[in-house]
Amino acid sequence: MKIGIIGGGASGLVTAIKSKTNNNEVTILERNSSCGKKILVTGNGRCNYWNDNQEIYNYDSNNNELIEKIINKETEKEVLDFFNELGIVPKIKNGYWYPSTNQAMTIKDALVDECISKGIIIKNNYLVEKIEKKQNKFIVNNELEFDILVLSTGSNTQKVTGSDGMGYNFLKEMNHNIIKPLPALVQLNTKKYNFLNKWKGIRTDVELTQIENGNEVRKEVGEIQLTDYGISGICVFNLSLYITKGLEDNKKEAVEINFIPNISKENINLLLNKDRSINRVLDNIINKKIVEILLEESKIDGNKKYLELSIQEKEKLLELLTKFKVEIISTKSFDSSQVSRGGLSLKDINLDTMESKIINNLYITGELLDITGICGGYNLGICWRSAIKAGNSIRGKND
Ligand SMILES: Cc1cc2nc3c(=O)[nH]c(=O)nc-3n(C[C@H](O)[C@H](O)[C@H](O)COP(=O)(O)OP(=O)(O)OC[C@H]3O[C@@H](n4cnc5c(N)ncnc54)[C@H](O)[C@@H]3O)c2cc1C
Repeated sequence: MKIGIIGGGASGLVTAIKSKTNNNEVTILERNSSCGKKILVTGNGRCNYWNDNQEIYNYDSNNNELIEKIINKETEKEVLDFFNELGIVPKIKNGYWYPSTNQAMTIKDALVDECISKGIIIKNNYLVEKIEKKQNKFIVNNELEFDILVLSTGSNTQKVTGSDGMGYNFLKEMNHNIIKPLPALVQLNTKKYNFLNKWKGIRTDVELTQIENGNEVRKEVGEIQLTDYGISGICVFNLSLYITKGLEDNKKEAVEINFIPNISKENINLLLNKDRSINRVLDNIINKKIVEILLEESKIDGNKKYLELSIQEKEKLLELLTKFKVEIISTKSFDSSQVSRGGLSLKDINLDTMESKIINNLYITGELLDITGICGGYNLGICWRSAIKAGNSIRGKND
């Protein structure tokens, strides 16, 4: 059988390795001059390729009830066995897996070399523009013919890496349902507040609460980056996975920032009630510029002592310290986002095999699918899991 894989990214490379047998000729068609360009930028160039915590709540989809078909113990074992077999030694930090070299190139090279050693044909600089199905064959660009076709073209994030959304169009042309892709794991634009220029450049540990239509829906802790457009950082990226959907659904989205996540109510009261100015107490605890903003916003004189404040002023100050609310108006674009939320509806695919329910012998893997994880190795995890499933199924067709 002739198998064509469109896209030599994370999921395409693994599908190729798993589907290759002596009876299967496997060809990867990659538009870039080399495969795995996006793998190289993952994890800040270190490739966070897996995570110890594989609980289902780390993932989201428009068909959440179907996630467990992909994210389960069986596919987890398959991924771990695959990387073990590939000879990748993990360096695990707080549950996050990186290659022991700390270089994303290690993962990319190991996958490409495995393809080459298995005799997989890699056609680089090959842009797929047209797919037709005639009788039982897929015809690509009017010139290549395959019995089985795998779409591993990724999403439409960070076009410079080669993924520009063409896969969605191919699927639409073949009558699949594409749930509108939205930028996710991305920076958030807030309303234009006067204090944005002042807090620009600050990084600090916080607890964030997502407020949707006035209700608390989710919390995240971690380091926030305060910027002149709004907020960034991994904890923000994780909330963005849900906020992007809320904004699309016309919900009012806001984030409350707790600037003192590690100080209990009792302790902050003890500290504030000391015989010192508010400035002195707060400057010892949080960034000076944030203190200035809190005092400006509350219109409180920082030279005063907490004991001298009215009850309302005390409440206001504590509220700003622990629930500093910013309204979110939009996310940054696909060019900034790590992933795209949405994609091929999980209802259109057999999740045991990753074969389309609409077109026989068409497989779909990786980020094209409507399943997205938070930061921490989950999105590559989806690529590995779906690619191994697809590869095994394709191999099974010819064994
Ligand atoms: C900056 C950044 C950091 C990230 N860090 C992490 C991380 O640390 N951990 C994690 O789990 N996830 C991370 N991700 C997400 C992860 O990289 C992606 O989810 C994953 O790479 C998607 O793999 P894929 O195989 O679906 O698609 P891609 O890796 O995007 O591969 C698709 C391939 O298809 C090719 N292609 C597309 N269209 C065509 C066409 N028409 N013809 C021929 N070739 C085509 C592209 O050139 C590309 O090589 C990060 C993403 C970004 C942008």
